[in-house]
Amino acid sequence: MSAEAAIDTLFEAARGWYEGLPAMAGFAPWPEGLERVDLPPQSQPALRDFVAHPGETTAQGRALLQATLAAAPYLHWCTAYDEAEVGRNFLDRFCFCELASPVGHFHAPDARITLAYWGPGLWYDWHWHKAEELYSVVSGGAEFLAQGLPDAHLGPEDTRLHTSDQPHAMRTHDAPVLTLVAWRGGDMTQKPDIGS
Ligand code: ZN
Repeated sequence: MSAEAAIDTLFEAARGWYEGLPAMAGFAPWPEGLERVDLPPQSQPALRDFVAHPGETTAQGRALLQATLAAAPYLHWCTAYDEAEVGRNFLDRFCFCELASPVGHFHAPDARITLAYWGPGLWYDWHWHKAEELYSVVSGGAEFLAQGLPDAHLGPEDTRLHTSDQPHAMRTHDAPVLTLVAWRGGDMTQKPDIGS
């Protein structure tokens, strides 16, 4: 499969996943009529973990997980944070890519949909941002923490909403976690503020 075909297949799988989860479909409509952006492939150390340990999923999650694995070599993976903020181990075992956003892979000026992966045994420190955010767990699972909410262990098809500037954090245990995350409102390109 060509890079373009793999990314197109991923985009459609993400759309199917998004529209199949009532919480996601109700959060914001899937952005329509997007043009592909020519982002070059960019690898990250965490991709090795992802390929080796993609995490368990449901029948509904399988299409998106398989499409993400197939497109992974062609995607522009990022880590966003600095080593001083999160440490080397975190940067080696976390990565995300922008699927639809002002950046790409499909240009959406007012939306942001990302895929993000954390290997097992990671602490994602408290952070916050202006945009509201809805997480969905595609595979694996993690413990989600947010100021004002009880801690929750989420698995495939579970979702979690973070309101504007609500501090939140996450911990993976034995399993990794792959999430599809949507933002609405605020600056779609904001780097979260991070630190306890
Ligand atoms: Zn967030």
